[in-house]
Amino acid sequence: MDTEIKSILKKETFSKEDLVRLLSCNEEESRKIFERSKAVKDEQVGKKVYFRGLIEYSNYCSKNCLYCGIRAGNSRYIRYQMPDEEVLEAAKYAFDHKFASIVIQSGERNDRKFINSIERLLREIQRISEGMLHVTLSLGEQTEETYQRWFAAGAHRYLLRIEVSNPELYRKLHPNDKHHDYNKRIEALIRLRKVGYQIGTGVMIGLPFQTIPDLADDLIFFRDFDIDMAGMGPYIEHKDTPLYQFRKELLPLRERFLLSLKMVALLRIIMKDINIAATTAMQTIDPQGREKALLVGANVIMPNLTPVNYRQNYLLYENKPCLDEEAEECKSCLEARIALAGDEIGYGEWGDSRHFKRRQNS
Ligand code: SAH
Ligand code: SF4
Repeated sequence: MDTEIKSILKKETFSKEDLVRLLSCNEEESRKIFERSKAVKDEQVGKKVYFRGLIEYSNYCSKNCLYCGIRAGNSRYIRYQMPDEEVLEAAKYAFDHKFASIVIQSGERNDRKFINSIERLLREIQRISEGMLHVTLSLGEQTEETYQRWFAAGAHRYLLRIEVSNPELYRKLHPNDKHHDYNKRIEALIRLRKVGYQIGTGVMIGLPFQTIPDLADDLIFFRDFDIDMAGMGPYIEHKDTPLYQFRKELLPLRERFLLSLKMVALLRIIMKDINIAATTAMQTIDPQGREKALLVGANVIMPNLTPVNYRQNYLLYENKPCLDEEAEECKSCLEARIALAGDEIGYGEWGDSRHFKRRQNS
């Protein structure tokens, strides 16, 4: 058994069957994968972990993804949009503490007012940091014109998860209308690349109806799309969502967690020089989830800079950790956690994906 895993790991490229076998292996066997992915990480991206301060800008969303707590159809949350001053304060905190980079995330909105607000904020962030603070956006699908405007205003990277790369499965997890269309999601990713962003995408792991071959296809999708960054994490059910009715069909949390670690590790082996996030959803299942993800290949962490009073209303999934932790506590806690994982923080460094740089130079 063990030798079979070892011989697959020696291959230059994995086939879909290889990936299915590796993703199906037990906890004992998975250690071999983790040893390998750790070695690849140390050799290719080193021990530096980069901070991206996360600002959960607004929970207004025009979409209704069946898994997400802040979907438009959920009336339980008080809707908010952070005032500009608070966003700029959070950006300044990141800049002063040498985070070098922030992520602005929110529900999806395509109206003029929203588009203008983001553009204005990007210009202000450029101004107060004299162009030194890098900004990643995670604001869903937009037109090419909008992506271009935000790029021109100073955004460098964009996170848009494909969520699942299997179009049929995508249909089962989203309402059946033109606003939730798999092909449009792919087109948005292509558009982002065309405009010049560093592209991050990702998937949820352990969703109802999702199979191991689906996850193998997700890894192949990342490779074929030649992504620069990835953010993947376990799916975590939320009781105010339509998908909650399938909770009995889910893998137990521990298994979802192990599967997520394997996905991170295998992606590191396959795409050696990309940036991979140790996501908060990993920590939701295991208190040391993010450190464990760093140990098997992740190299980016997103400390939450959202003011605490908004966090209860930005619950994409339940049991989200650190709801009452201010930025300062969050930072100290992460410093300790990263040291425990044997890594160091790349303070003051943008930490651009090496993959992106190589892609640009080739
Ligand atoms: N509205 C934007 C960004 C905010 S949502 C977008 O959809 O792209 C950010 C991510 O949260 C989504 O891409 C999804 O992968 C994740 N998410 C939503 N609901 C989740 C759940 N129940 N469990 C785990 N992750 C979830
Ligand atoms: Fe809105 Fe994003 Fe949640 Fe979908 S995943 S409902 S687009 S916030």
